[in-house]
Amino acid sequence: MRPFNFITAESPQHALSLVAENKNAKFIAGGTNLLDLMKLEIEAPPLLVDISKTGLDKIEKREDGRIAIGTSVTNSALAADMNIRRGYPVLSRALLAGASGQLRNKATTGGNLLQRTRCPYFYDTAQACNKRLPGSGCSAKGGFSRLLAVIDVSDACIASFPSDMAVALRVLDAEIELCSLTGTRIIPIRDFYHGATTQPHIETVIRRDELITRIILPRPIGGSHFYEKVRDRASYAFALVSAAMVFLPDGSARVALGGVAPKPWRVESAEQLLTTDIDEYVRIAFSGASSTHENQFKIPLAKQILTTLINEHKEAMA
Ligand code: SF4
Repeated sequence: MRPFNFITAESPQHALSLVAENKNAKFIAGGTNLLDLMKLEIEAPPLLVDISKTGLDKIEKREDGRIAIGTSVTNSALAADMNIRRGYPVLSRALLAGASGQLRNKATTGGNLLQRTRCPYFYDTAQACNKRLPGSGCSAKGGFSRLLAVIDVSDACIASFPSDMAVALRVLDAEIELCSLTGTRIIPIRDFYHGATTQPHIETVIRRDELITRIILPRPIGGSHFYEKVRDRASYAFALVSAAMVFLPDGSARVALGGVAPKPWRVESAEQLLTTDIDEYVRIAFSGASSTHENQFKIPLAKQILTTLINEHKEAMA
């Protein structure tokens, strides 16, 4: 790891000023991904700006019924919060499916959204990787790709996005509050991640001068909430395929999938088929898919997960 300076910011504005004044400085909260990247020298920021003492560690219920989650709320605290457990159980379940208890105690909401792919070649600096070193190539093509994406891939990169939390936020239509020294903007999570691109090192719309300050949840949508995650190891592993699914009181359903794309994968235009024709839903949701011989199992696995959840819901309602 290369030497770096560390400053604990006293407020969001202080943190933003420090990053604006110091080229290549980075924000840090839990550090559960960033410190690994620094140890491997994939990241080498000369300054880390700690945002854990900036007052962004609260979960607030607003007068209009929405919930504002501060960026440095830990994954454990968010999963255990009673407003989240009662109003957004799909989010609580997704969080508890992620990582280990120790990691959830450190990992934060904002950091979870910005974590990097777990493509093994991204972490191996001896390998070509367009996401780590633009223009160097992609060792995953023809290599180990079991964990990687099957839809929304590009010639430049086939990495999948590893977050469980973000999959649940996508099905809930969460919004992301971004602050800079010049103002605040709100981005729906559906527009936050780029997905397939010729520049896979640029993963989100966040600018270098911006800080995620809050995640905003809409008012509770009701219904029955499920989060199912299939992985290679039950104790702790990233999803091969996961599904955040909500059956709404009006009989409709929503789903977002994890582990299959470079972002949480949701195809709203096909969701009316979820409860009537799962084969057709899967056909539409994965139209244009491009899998490898190692990860082609993901599409039938996604169908199996959805079928199981639909049957579980039907049995519970019978
Ligand atoms: Fe890098 Fe993406 Fe290729 Fe993995 S799939 S080696 S992250 S370019």
